[in-house]
Amino acid sequence: MTKLSTPAASSHLFDFKGTIESKSKTVTTPNPEQTDICECSVVSAKDFSFYYGKTTGVKNISMEIFPCRVTAIIGPSGCGKSTFLRSINRMNDLIPATRATGILEVNGQNIYDKRTNLVNLRQQVGMVFQKPNPFAKSIFDNVAYGPRLQGIRNRTKLEGLVEECLKSSALWDEVKDNLDKSALALSGGQQQRLCIARALATNPRVLLMDEPCSALDPLATARIEDLIEQLKTQYTIIIVTHNMQQAARVSEHAAFFCLGELIEYDLTPKLFTNPSHKQTEDYITGRFG
Ligand code: ADP
Repeated sequence: MTKLSTPAASSHLFDFKGTIESKSKTVTTPNPEQTDICECSVVSAKDFSFYYGKTTGVKNISMEIFPCRVTAIIGPSGCGKSTFLRSINRMNDLIPATRATGILEVNGQNIYDKRTNLVNLRQQVGMVFQKPNPFAKSIFDNVAYGPRLQGIRNRTKLEGLVEECLKSSALWDEVKDNLDKSALALSGGQQQRLCIARALATNPRVLLMDEPCSALDPLATARIEDLIEQLKTQYTIIIVTHNMQQAARVSEHAAFFCLGELIEYDLTPKLFTNPSHKQTEDYITGRFG
């Protein structure tokens, strides 16, 4: 545990101009000894809890997630992994009777502040789901969807953006001659890479991935894992996975959740080979979960 200062504020997420007060609290970083205090976290949770009516999704989560790395969230079913992930772009707001307490900041701004512009937030914090969910539109229109929402109408500009995002998601070579084809005609793995391209098209800072490979075959999974490796040089990636081998392969930092709480957060090799908590050890050695 270490004390970090609050990351510098940027005003993008709010509809108004002003400063946001944020208290400095004790938060968890993956490696207090090695973390460079000057480096600003992109996502910062401070005593963050989320409730579905009377059910607790996560409680008192305090952690800092740093840029241009992959952070994996692992833990048994129902431990709050998806709740925490989906809280980072307020996807859970769509569920009635939910409630959040504490602070969850993206780029230094508390995204649960009522002034948060959710459209802007979701453009900055893109999400890729378990099951690929392309729109029933052409490949081109799927990727151009976000930029069009942002007001980009110029065809040449859109074409450039679509090409760039499809190249970044390692799909361009397979679809460049069929951009008008329905996205639904692509294979599952291609659809997932298209969804990644669609998320990249709004120029996000953070990419949330909720079990992005669980519906894919091993070959398509390997392609997504390669892609994650490339994307992390530009994006902050937070991935929820049931697959501990996958967490070990793709992430630099890993957080172990259990019963809605953050039990341990460390460098991935340390968490998997020399965990500090017995609960983590029991989970990674298969004693429960
Ligand atoms: P995980 O992703 O680790 O499987 P979840 O975040 O889905 O865990 O769930 C955490 C807790 O929140 C569980 O007790 C689960 O039953 C509850 N929960 C998740 N989604 C809902 C929901 N839509 N309505 C009510 N409770 C929910």
